[in-house]
Parts: sequence; structure tokens; C-alpha cells
Amino acid sequence: MSEQSYDVVVIGAGPGGYVAAIRAAQLGLKTACIEKRPTLGGTCLNVGCIPSKALLQSSEKFEEAKHHLSAFGVVVGEARVDLPALMAHKTQVVKANTQGVEYLFRKNKIDWLKGHGRLTSPTSIAIDGPDGSQTVTAKSIIVATGSDVMPLPGVAIDEKRIVSSTGSLALETIPKRLVVIGGGYIGLEMGSVWRRLGAQVTVVEFLDRILAGMDGDVAKQMQRILTKQGMTFKLQTKVTAATSTDSGVTLTMEPAAGGDTQTLDADVVLVAIGRRPYTDNLGLEATGVALTERRRIKTDSHFRTSVPSIYAIGDVIDGPMLAHKAEDEGAVVAEIIAGQSGHINYDAIPGVVYTTPEVAQVGKTEEQLKEAGVAYRVGKFPYTANGRARAMNATDGFVKLLADAKTDRLLGGHIVGADAGHMIAELGLAMEFGASAEDVARTSHAHPTLSEIVREAALAVDGRPLHM
Ligand code: FAD
Ligand code: NAD
Repeated sequence: MSEQSYDVVVIGAGPGGYVAAIRAAQLGLKTACIEKRPTLGGTCLNVGCIPSKALLQSSEKFEEAKHHLSAFGVVVGEARVDLPALMAHKTQVVKANTQGVEYLFRKNKIDWLKGHGRLTSPTSIAIDGPDGSQTVTAKSIIVATGSDVMPLPGVAIDEKRIVSSTGSLALETIPKRLVVIGGGYIGLEMGSVWRRLGAQVTVVEFLDRILAGMDGDVAKQMQRILTKQGMTFKLQTKVTAATSTDSGVTLTMEPAAGGDTQTLDADVVLVAIGRRPYTDNLGLEATGVALTERRRIKTDSHFRTSVPSIYAIGDVIDGPMLAHKAEDEGAVVAEIIAGQSGHINYDAIPGVVYTTPEVAQVGKTEEQLKEAGVAYRVGKFPYTANGRARAMNATDGFVKLLADAKTDRLLGGHIVGADAGHMIAELGLAMEFGASAEDVARTSHAHPTLSEIVREAALAVDGRPLHM
């Protein structure tokens, strides 16, 4: 077969890879993208962000109809779940998104090379696809192969009774008892979905807190709220084994620090203890691409690996495993390859957990500032004191801002509360512009909106909130 040659070949069509391909094509580079899944969009569009948000949306609407609408004076008949219809909504949303990426590839004249790509030299890739094998060459290669489920020894995933996030997006019945191993992003989001739909959810977490890496105040508040919603938490506990039976799963657990074992029965167990970089059969060793200690691909600040013509971005390299971080890196690496300069401010990448209420953060946590010995001031304002939040019956939560004690520059923003995911964008932008808390406090915020809570928190940094 003849060898096709390109300026840029991207391996992996997740948010990192497909954005890199689009940006490279926009910049006039002849571009192809290799993807082994039957659809484009990677983990995020197929089995991650998008399907989980579709299920979160449906289950939130159900819970609203069942428990919350009457408080607004809206009376509906008995709400019930139509699980196949709920799943059909998810499938439709995924399809619209993955086909959207196919359209963008056609529009930008990007070749989708179907199959598994393996590096065979610094400038060539062998592709094993449904239509046979071929080799392509490229002046620059971008590895964007993402991540995969982290396995837990002793707890074998069968995607039926013991599921990963992927299985948890496609359960055929609502489990009576769901045990989630891991109190992070996936555990809390998918735990929320199935709790709202009727499951009794227990979260088993190794650490002494949930949402590791997020601000401690926020994590505590969120645990209280989720507990009030009916979730049970077993912290400082590790699962050592799982036995599947016809009727369910028995988990064996022990205290994280060691001690007596106990068992816990479940109908379904979700393993959500993190994700691992995906580099299987990628030919990294053969081409000399170096890895970090945590087996992610090592890159410099320009996303160049130890092999100069090979770049890497997204979940497969260091940093938070988030779709928008991968997208940002995708756009920037294409610009760098095209000879432009590119830069990402990793301190201004937001993180959002789409529970009810949502949790959102940008910048440093209070714990990180303490550890770094930075002098800071805190401004905090609760949702309870906001008119719009009261009208929405959404008074749980707060906004917490951290600003440099000397310069007043914003160092971190943390929100637990309704619409936190949208509200954090203002703080991300403020941080990108090097804004002070005073800048945010002096910016006009429309009334009555939840965004006024952000402004009040900014005023609170200087001890002068107006409505508290
Ligand atoms: P991926 O999206 O993993 O894409 C990599 C692609 O490369 C895959 O399609 C894979 O098939 C392909 N590939 C791998 N190796 C090869 C090869 N050798 N040849 C050809 N193709 C290959 N992040 C958020 O920001 N917000 C969210 O709400 C969110 N929700 C999530 C929910 C779940 C359940 C999960 C699992 C993740 C979620 N994430 C979320 C994380 C997000 O999905 C990832 O951070 C993001 O997808 C990473 O993008 P990527 O392009 O680096 O890799
Ligand atoms: P996570 O890192 O968010 O949470 C994993 C949790 O499991 C941690 O709290 C960890 O302490 C705990 N843990 C680890 N080993 C354990 C063990 N043996 N027993 C009990 N607990 C254990 O990982 P995740 O929830 O699996 O999600 C993976 C990644 O996907 C996230 O880090 C995030 O980057 C991404 N994601 C993002 C979103 C979003 O942006 N809304 C949603 C889902 C996933």
C-alpha cells in the first residue's frame, strides 16, 4: 500500500486530539487523525463527560419532579423513571456530539485514519484498522491517546455487577444498593445519578475526605450536603476483595491504616479510583519516548517529548485529567508546531463536579497556599444570603475567594452551590487577567443573579460584604 505523508498526524481523537487536528488544519497544515474507536470524540464524548452529563441532567429532572417542584407550587402527577428512554436520551446526545466532530473533520479537510496507531519511528506510524494495515509518515506527530480506567487489584471489573464508569453509564436496571469505590469526580457524579434514580449509595473512600485535591472547606460542605441527600460515606477505608454471586457482590474492606476486616453487600459496585494514562501498544519504547514515574508521557513546556518530532497532550501527560485542559493543550500544540507561540496558564484551569449542587474551583486551594507559605486573605459568602438563590430554593453552599494578602491578587476561587460550573468562568477570566479581589468587587453584577455571590465574596475579602 502507498504511504501517505502529512505535516501533522494526531493519534487519538478525544478532546485533546480532535482539537489539535482542527487547529493544525486551520493553520494550513496537512493533517490526519488516527482513532481506533468506531466514533470520534474519545473518552469525553463517548463514555465520559457527555453521557454522564446527560444522565445527570435526566436524573436531576426526575428528582426535581418527584421531590422539589411542589415547593414551587407546581403540582405534577407521580414522577417515575423510564430507564430505556433516559438511556435513549443519553445515546442521542452522544451521537449528536460524535457526529459533530466528524462534520468538523470534513469541514477542515482532516483525514480520519481508522484503526490503532503504533509509532514505528520518530516520523512514521503503523495503523491496524478495519480495512487492513497501512503506514503513514508525518513531520510532526501528536500523541493524544488519553486515559483508561484504573483497575483495583482484587476487584475484577465485569461491567455488569462490578462496573467501571463506562458500565455505570449503561446499567439496565436501577440497583437497590450501589457501592462506589472512590469519592472523587466519577464516584460523586455517577453515585448522584443512581441515588436520584432510587439506589442506596455508599461511597467507600481511602482518604479521610472526599474530593481529594479540592479545597478542604468545599469538600466538607459537599459531604454534608450529599449525606443529607441520602448518600453514605465510609472514609479511610480500603476495599481488598470482591466476590460476585448470582445475587450481588460482597466487598471485603479494612481500615486504610490496617485493622479488622468487614464486609459490605451490593447489587452493583462502581470502581472509580482514578484513571491511568493509555499508552498500550503505542510503540513508545521502540521510538525512545520517555515516561514519567507515574507512566505518563514526559513533555517539556512546549509539549515536546524526548523525541523532538513527537509531541503529547491531554490525559496521557501530566496535569489534571480534564477535557478542557486537553483541548487547550491541543490548540496550543498545533500553534507551536505551526511556528507560533503558545501558552497555558495551569493556575487558571477550572475543575467542576456536576453534582447537585455543583462544585467548582480555579487556582489554588487554601491548603496549597498554607503549604507554600503564601500570606492570603479569605472572602466567603453564603448562597443563603442571595435573593435569587432563595427564589430558586438553592440556598446550600458558598463562594470562597482567596487573595494575596499584600497585593490582593486573586489566587483561588472555590464554589459549592447551584450553577457553580458556570459561575467559575468569571473567576477563571479574572485570574487570567491578573485581577485583584477588588477588581471583581467593583465589577457590576446583574441583579438578581447568583453571580452576586461572587461579588459579595470579593467584597468579603476586604471585610465589607454588603448583604451580610
Ligand atoms: P481521550 O478522550 O481519552 O481520547 C483518547 C482517544 O485516543 C480515545 O478515543 C482512544 O480510543 C484513542 N486511542 C488511544 N490509543 C490509540 C491508538 N494507539 N491508536 C488510535 N487511537 C487511540 N472531563 C471534564 O473536563 N469534564 C467532565 O465532565 C468529565 N467527565 C468525565 C466523566 C467520565 C465518566 C470520565 C471517564 C471522564 C470524564 N472527564 C471529564 C475526563 C475527560 O473525559 C478526559 O479528561 C478527556 O477525555 C481527555 O481527553 P484526551 O483527548 O486526552 O483523551
Ligand atoms: P479521582 O481521582 O477524581 O478520585 C478517585 C478517588 O478514589 C480519590 O478520592 C482516591 O483517594 C480514591 N481512591 C483511590 N484508590 C482507592 C482505593 N483503593 N479505595 C478507595 N478509594 C480509593 O478519580 P475518578 O473519580 O475515577 O475520575 C478520574 C478522573 O476523570 C478525574 O480525576 C477527573 O480528572 C476526570 N473526571 C472529571 C470529571 C469532571 O470534570 N466533572 C468527571 C469525571 C471524571
